[in-house]
Amino acid sequence: MNRKEFFKTSLLGAAAVAAAPSLLASCAPAKKDTGARLNISFQSGKALGETYAEKMDYCESLGVTGFEPGGWELVNQYDDLAKALEGRNLKVSAICAGFEGFILADDPVQKEAFDTSMRRIVEAAGQIGSTGVIMVPAFSRQEPCKPNNQETYDYLCEQLHELGEYAVKCGTTVILEPLNRAECFYLRLVSAAAAICRDAKSEGVKCMGDFWHMKEETSDYAALMSAGTKYLQHIHIASRANRCNPGEDGDVDNYVDGFRALKEMGYDKYISFECGNIGDPAVVIPAAVELIKSQWQQA
Ligand code: MG
Repeated sequence: MNRKEFFKTSLLGAAAVAAAPSLLASCAPAKKDTGARLNISFQSGKALGETYAEKMDYCESLGVTGFEPGGWELVNQYDDLAKALEGRNLKVSAICAGFEGFILADDPVQKEAFDTSMRRIVEAAGQIGSTGVIMVPAFSRQEPCKPNNQETYDYLCEQLHELGEYAVKCGTTVILEPLNRAECFYLRLVSAAAAICRDAKSEGVKCMGDFWHMKEETSDYAALMSAGTKYLQHIHIASRANRCNPGEDGDVDNYVDGFRALKEMGYDKYISFECGNIGDPAVVIPAAVELIKSQWQQA
């Protein structure tokens, strides 16, 4: 090959390479449909409006299909809530805590308060069709608390087993929420919550991830994958520096890695806003919904 022919061939090659990305894109296999669906939910206080009807109209106007009330709110305003949900494309996603006492209380009075109030909320949660009731085993500030040792772990699993079986009878679940170390030294990682679900040996014991607390994780993807659809029942979302609407903290509000895990595993439960506002809620809330939709597409 002489010098002239060499350049001609090289240029043809370069042209082929330049055309390649579009050819490769058209040959790339479509992403498998795992059954994953983006279902956005708002906590009761996030939805703008005074009455349930106004709040739910607001959710529907943004394509939000889940509503997350507190446990106390559910029990005390059950009829209003159930009536407001009638005929809407909106369901109760999960119930956020609201019980008294805590499961690892060392004081029998506090433990009894937990057992009674939690079971009442679980019953109402089943009745209204919630995926579950969110709970934390013990906040760091709660005293007196059982020591963090093997005996307590076994006790926690036994207690959760009983509670989980009760939840199954009620048609719902209990959902363990890992928090950050300042708020809950007992449970910080999604994988640790998933292991408790496994060891509790009840279909009624599930766990969740909260992107705000998940700053403690080394990987959003690995954390959510460690629970998988077997245990992962709910997600909370917020901006990642100030716990406001996704997007309000700029570039750090990236959920793509976590969303990729949810899409690959076939997650079809809810992603619920648990956050405050920095900017004007009328502007920043719809923008946050759009950001979530766009990052879900991207994942
Ligand atoms: Mg949360």
